Parts: sequence; structure tokens; C-alpha cells
Amino acid sequence: MTQSRDIVKIITRNLASLRARIEAACKRAGRDPAGVTLIAVTKYHGVEVMEAVAAAGLQDIGENRLQVAEPKLMALKAKVRRHFIGPLQTNKTKRVLELFDIIHSLDRLALADVIDKRAVQAGRATVGCFVEVNTSGEASKSGLAPSQLIETLEEIRQKYHRIELLGLMTMAAQTEDAGRVRASFQRLRELRDEAVANGKMTPAFGGLSMGMSGDFEIAIEEGATHIRIGTALYEGLPESSAGAG
Ligand SMILES: *Cc1c(COP(=O)(O)O)cnc(C)c1O
Repeated sequence: MTQSRDIVKIITRNLASLRARIEAACKRAGRDPAGVTLIAVTKYHGVEVMEAVAAAGLQDIGENRLQVAEPKLMALKAKVRRHFIGPLQTNKTKRVLELFDIIHSLDRLALADVIDKRAVQAGRATVGCFVEVNTSGEASKSGLAPSQLIETLEEIRQKYHRIELLGLMTMAAQTEDAGRVRASFQRLRELRDEAVANGKMTPAFGGLSMGMSGDFEIAIEEGATHIRIGTALYEGLPESSAGAG
């Protein structure tokens, strides 16, 4: 059994190499690394790894399924920002709002309606949300079609005052073709710029949640403000410390 201090050591080492890659990507793009938030995705790991991630200095964790995340978050002692990054069913919304700070997967108006209503019951004045866009055209990916985005943002802005729009989120095409991956991220940035240029978004809007272990450098080059990293953070961690998947 791996001791928790060994888990912290492994994660700290992986984090140092990730930070170096983030800095190099920022340098190529002429960006300040302070503008990129690393969200540690802990979905395949137990609460011990969550605590280790916090001990290694990360302040943001991401989970994609309520059933898996709930027991871990109930046990978690570290104070971290909690990001919900997976598909969200309306009947799970209230609990998600009780357990998570920020939602990255607002992908339909019906969900905006439920988030706005449940926010009150969950004791929330506002809920920070990224609107998910399907930039790859892959049928398996969730997210709004780019053609629906501007109209949907406008409707959310007008009708759902408890939703604080923080920006846009996407998952790139699942492919070895770096050009197609980059095209997804560029598309999201253009859509963000279009929404900002139409002049109606609040100052909080402007974030780009994009980039995972396999493609975060391209995402940073294209303007990512939030990268969601799982696999790369846990390299070298023995399976025995992986916890429930
Ligand atoms: C799992 C997951 C990630 C992290 O993926 P890795 O390839 O392990 O870095 C990022 N975003 C979402 C939405 C995920 O479900």
C-alpha cells in the first residue's frame, strides 16, 4: 500500500513537469501562466488522491459523475474549488449545486432553467457556469452546436439571473490529428470572441475551459484559461492507490 506522503511526492513530481510544459506553451503563445488554471480531474481516484492533490498545492479539482464524486467530496477535508465537468442530468442538479462550485457542462437551455431554480434550494446566490459547445461535430460529444450558441447565451443572460456565465467549454475531437484538435480549440475561442464582441456579456464571461492530458499544450496556445488534467497528474501512481473508479 502506497503511503499518502508517497502519493503526494509522485503528484508533486508530475505537477512540476506539467507546470514546465504549461509555462513553455504560455511562452510560445506570449501568455502569462497565471492565466491558466489547472483543474486536477480526480474521477478515477479516491479521496486520498484528492487530499494529495491539494497537499501538492492544487486548488481546483474536477469530477464528472455525481455518484462517484459524492462520497469522496463528503469525506474530503481539503478546501478546494470543486468543478463539475461531466454530463449533467436535470434530476441530479440540486445535489450537484450543493457539492460543486462551478459547472463546466451547461449544454442546453432546459438545464439552465433547472440550475436557476435549484440554486435557491441549494442556498446559492449564483452558480458559475461554462457553456459546453460541440466544436468537433462528433455525435458522441455533448454540447451545443456552434450555430445555436449566441442565441442560447443571450437567452440565459436574459432569463436566468442566478447563472453567472464564466465562458465556454469544449472537448476536442478524439484523434491523433493535431490540426483537427487545434481547429476545435480555435473554434471555441472564435465563438467566445464573437459573444464578447456582441457586447452583452458580463465582465465575468471570457473563460475557455479546454485541454486535457493529451492536448492541453495546443489548448493553451489557443487561449485556454482552464485546463482539465487527469492522467498526466497520476503517472507512476500504483494501481493500489487508485481507489474506486
Ligand atoms: C476525464 C476528463 C478529463 C481529463 O482527462 P485526462 O485525459 O485524464 O487528462 C477532462 N475533461 C473531462 C470532461 C473529463 O471527463
